[in-house]
Amino acid sequence: TITSSDVQEHAFEQRRTQPGALPEVEAFIAEVESRAAKGERIASLDPATGQLLVHVAETNAEEVDRTVRHAHDAFTGSWKRFSPFERERVLHRLADLMEQHATELAQYDALESGKPVGYVEAVDVALAVEQFRYYAGWPTKILGSVVPVASADHLVYTKKDPLGVVAAITPWNFPLCQAAIKIAPALAAGNAVVIKPSELTSLSTLRLAELAVEAGVPEGVVSVVTGRGETTGAALTSHPLVRGITFTGSDRVGRQLAAEAGAALKPISLELGGKNPNIIFPDADVQKAATAAAVTAFFYSGQVCFAGSRVLVHRDVRDDVLDVIHQYTDAIVVGPSLDSASTMGPLVSAQHRDKVNSYVEQARRGAASITRGGISSRDGGFFYDPTIVLDPTDAEAVTTDEIFGPVLIVQTFDDDDDLIARANASRYGLTAGLWTSDVTRVHSIADRLEVGRVWVNTYADWAANAPWGGSKQSGLGRDCGPDAVEKFLETKTVWVG
Ligand code: NAD
Repeated sequence: TITSSDVQEHAFEQRRTQPGALPEVEAFIAEVESRAAKGERIASLDPATGQLLVHVAETNAEEVDRTVRHAHDAFTGSWKRFSPFERERVLHRLADLMEQHATELAQYDALESGKPVGYVEAVDVALAVEQFRYYAGWPTKILGSVVPVASADHLVYTKKDPLGVVAAITPWNFPLCQAAIKIAPALAAGNAVVIKPSELTSLSTLRLAELAVEAGVPEGVVSVVTGRGETTGAALTSHPLVRGITFTGSDRVGRQLAAEAGAALKPISLELGGKNPNIIFPDADVQKAATAAAVTAFFYSGQVCFAGSRVLVHRDVRDDVLDVIHQYTDAIVVGPSLDSASTMGPLVSAQHRDKVNSYVEQARRGAASITRGGISSRDGGFFYDPTIVLDPTDAEAVTTDEIFGPVLIVQTFDDDDDLIARANASRYGLTAGLWTSDVTRVHSIADRLEVGRVWVNTYADWAANAPWGGSKQSGLGRDCGPDAVEKFLETKTVWVG
C-alpha cells in the first residue's frame, strides 16, 4: 500500500519548510506593493486562498523603452569591460547568494504559483543555482578560431560576440528556474538581459535581479519588466535594441512571437508545451514504472511542460499499472503551498482550474471513464484533485491537448508499431518516458520517438548541462547545455591583410 509519506519521498524530500512566510519575504512583498502603487498595476493572488498577495507594476511601453536603452548602455559600457574571468566570478557569486537565500526564493514561487514550498526549494531553487554554476564555467571557454587562407600575409580569425540586449519571456510554472535558465547562459555569453516574468509570478524574478546586482553584475545588465504579455511583453520583444528573444510558454504565444521575430529577423528560441507519452512495457519494473507515472503526472499539479500526462501501457500489464497509479493517487495530500503536509498544491488561477475541469467534463461525456478526481471539494483556493481518465480515444481533446493540470490519461497499446504511430501522431514532441528491460527495444523506440528527450527507466531528471527542448510544436532551439550559450552568440570574422 502506498502512503502519503511514500508520496513525499517519491516526489522530492521536503527541506527546511517554514510554517509561514519569512519576515524578509513579507518585507519584500510590501516593497513590491509600494513600488506598484504609482501607476498601472496587476493583482497577483495566492492560489491556495484566492486572496490578494501583491500588486505588481504593469510596465508601459515608454518604461520598457527606457529599460531596454538602459540595458543597452550597460551592455556597451560596463559589462563589455568585464573580462571572461570576471564574468565567471560574478556568476558564481550570484549562485552563492541564491543558496544563501534558498528558502526565501522558494517562498515567492510557492506563494504565487501554489507549489509546495519544500519541493520548490529542493527542486526549483537547486536547479536554478545549478544553472549559474554550470554557466559560470563558460565565459573562459568561448573560443574563436584561426581560418587558414591562401595568402600567408593574411591572418583571418573568428570571434564569438554577444548579441547585445536579449529579451527573456517566462511562464508561471517554474518562475525562478526559468529565469535562471534564460539569464545564466545569456550573461555567460556576455549579453544583457531584460526579462518579463509571467504576470502571475513576478516576485522571485524581481528578487533574483536584486541578488545579481549584489553579486557584482553591473546595474542594468539584468532588468525586469513586470506586466502582461500582450502589452509589456510585446513592447519588449519588438524593441529595436532587443537583438534576440528566448521564450518559454504556450505554443500559441510561441507561434505568434516566432512570426514577429521572423518579420524583424531576430533570432528566437522557443520552449513550448507537451503532451508527453509515458510508455510501459510488460518487461519493465512495473511497480517502479507505475509509481513514476503517477509522480510525473501529478507533480506540481501537472502544471509542468514535461508531465508524463499520457500513459501508454501494454495491454498485458494494464491492470497492475492501474492498481499502483490508483494507490499513489489516493495517497496524495492536496493542500496549501506553505503547509509541509501538502504533496500537491492548487492550480495557479480560477480561470486555469475551469479550463482543466472543462477537459475532464468533456472526457466524461465521451468514451472514457473518470476513475479518480475532478474539481476539489476543498474550500477556498483553486484546488483540483488528481484525476485519472481511463481509455479516452486518440482523437479526444483530453488525449491530444496539453491540459496542464493533474489529469493523467491511461491508454493501452498492443505492439511497437501501434505504439509509435500513436505516440508520434501528437502535434507536440517534448519528452517521452520509456519503461522496459529490453535493451534493443530501448534503442529502437528511443530512435523512433519524435521528441526532444526520452527518459528510459527514469523520469523527469534534469541537469543544466543536458540540452533541453522539443520537436514539432514543442519548440525551436535548446535551453541548457552548450547550445544555450551558442544561441546568444554571433560569429564575427576578422580578416587582417
Ligand atoms: P503563456 O504562453 O500564456 O505565457 C508565457 C509568457 O509569455 C508570459 O510571461 C506571458 O505574459 C507572455 N506573453 C503572452 N503573450 C505575449 C506576447 N504577445 N508578447 C510577449 N510575451 C507574451 O504560457 P503560460 O500559461 O505562462 O505557461 C504555460 C505554458 O508554458 C505551457 O504550455 C507549458 O508547457 C509551457 N512551458 C514550457 C516549458 C518548456 O521548457 N518547454 C517549461 C515551462 C512551461
